[in-house]
Amino acid sequence: MTAHLAAAPPTPAFIGGAKHNLIGGQWVPAASGATIDVINPATGGALGTIAASDSVDVDRAVAAARAAFEGPWSGWTPHQRRKLILDVHDILLDNFDELALIETLDMGAPLSRTMGLREWTSQVLQFFAGQVDAGTVAAAENSLPGDFLTLRYRPPVGVVGGIIPWNGPLIGLWWIFGPALATGCTAVLKPAEDASLSVLRVAELMQQAGVPDGVINVVTGYGKDAGSALAEHHGVDRIAFTGSVGTAQTIVRASAGNLKRLQMELGGKSPDIVFADADLDKAVPGAAMGVFTNSGQVCVAGTRIFVQRAIHEEFVARMADFTKTIRVGNGLDPNTQLGPLISQRQLDRVLGYIDIGNDEAQLAVGGRRLAGEYANGFYVEPTVFSGANNEMTIAREEIFGPVATVIPFDTVDEAITLANATPYGLAGGLWTENLGTAHKVSQAIDAGTVWVNCYGVLDPAIGFGGTKMSGYGWKGGREHVESYLYSKAVYINLG
Ligand code: NAD
Repeated sequence: MTAHLAAAPPTPAFIGGAKHNLIGGQWVPAASGATIDVINPATGGALGTIAASDSVDVDRAVAAARAAFEGPWSGWTPHQRRKLILDVHDILLDNFDELALIETLDMGAPLSRTMGLREWTSQVLQFFAGQVDAGTVAAAENSLPGDFLTLRYRPPVGVVGGIIPWNGPLIGLWWIFGPALATGCTAVLKPAEDASLSVLRVAELMQQAGVPDGVINVVTGYGKDAGSALAEHHGVDRIAFTGSVGTAQTIVRASAGNLKRLQMELGGKSPDIVFADADLDKAVPGAAMGVFTNSGQVCVAGTRIFVQRAIHEEFVARMADFTKTIRVGNGLDPNTQLGPLISQRQLDRVLGYIDIGNDEAQLAVGGRRLAGEYANGFYVEPTVFSGANNEMTIAREEIFGPVATVIPFDTVDEAITLANATPYGLAGGLWTENLGTAHKVSQAIDAGTVWVNCYGVLDPAIGFGGTKMSGYGWKGGREHVESYLYSKAVYINLG
């Protein structure tokens, strides 16, 4: 179903013109003067430009971050940093309608989703505000014979480079800025070339909230220029990366020069298993939106839906019916549930996989690009393939679009085997009314997160992360904050 845009909210004054990098508290164009056109994926129209930065700009940003790290910022007490994070929290929430609108215009996610990030942003910032003591607790133990004072400190690692994708910048940036502010690190963030505007506006608001110059820096540009320069830079102590496996492998190699600490949050082909005893009133919309949310551009999307054979036909019919009710359209319409894909490139990629799916399996619903008033945007219908198996391309490769593959299975053990037959290990889900099945299968799925009778729930205090080819390093929770610190022991002979 398509949603029709009646009256759009006014475009924020921030949109339009040339946006610059934030380096050492100054807004500066790329040294080369190069820019990238910003495209609204809902219309194909222009939203201004961002800087196309390269290694020169990254050098400057890293120098600014280093100077801030070694400057007065290092003397900030945990209490001062907590107050700063809470001030950032307040200014962001006061301006959240604008931020949500910028995100919707820039990357296409509907306002129904981006406005919903207000509460999440509040939670994540409050969480990191509560973590400022992680690095300051020094353990003093009389653990050696003789008269020794033994101290264990947790200093911040230094300058952190963040590289994030386009599918949720308003979420992704906090996994870098949050722990950096909490621990006393400084950061250089390179957002994705396809979606940088909300990050730049957040950075402006963070300046207004009092974040000192150089503590957070934003350098926009292409991965091959700005991203790779950050990954290689010897002035960067840690890289936090979210994106594709191929890019992660490049970054691992590039970061070897100074043995950077790494956190890698990569892709997935997550299983979502529906057992015959599941409550289908919940499982059908739950599994469907577990794939289609954000037009399928979600790392944890439960794209392989395994359905026990006894209910397979009924499930496919009900999922197709449900999918037809999903309203696709311009994200500015408050009724829109799914917006466009991010770019022409991504649209071509997803339509290519739909062609493959049509050859491999049966199309149950969807499968087309939206036409008419949507022809200039990058819209594709939510799509379900049935009659599939785990070996098909559409069941093996990450599509990163609204495409679900439904695969039948017979036994619990078979479901587990199929679920784990993937190089990825980011997430998984299962739907059952049987507690024993829920426990057994949630334990058996090789993934960083497993949802039972729900999908996509995330508490910043608990966090998430991947295993296998989905990466390593936990985001959220105390573990995340501690990965921005290193350990240092001091032994004092008092004798
Ligand atoms: P991508 O790897 O191409 O790009 C991600 C970021 O890396 C962008 O900022 C890009 O500019 C940068 N980059 C590209 N080449 C680089 C290089 N050589 N050196 C340094 N940086 C470089 O990924 P994408 O296509 O933009 O995003 C989609 C992928 O991200 C999917 O595979 C998806 O699963 C994954 N993803 C994972 C999560 C997660 O939390 N696990 C979240 C969102 C997206």
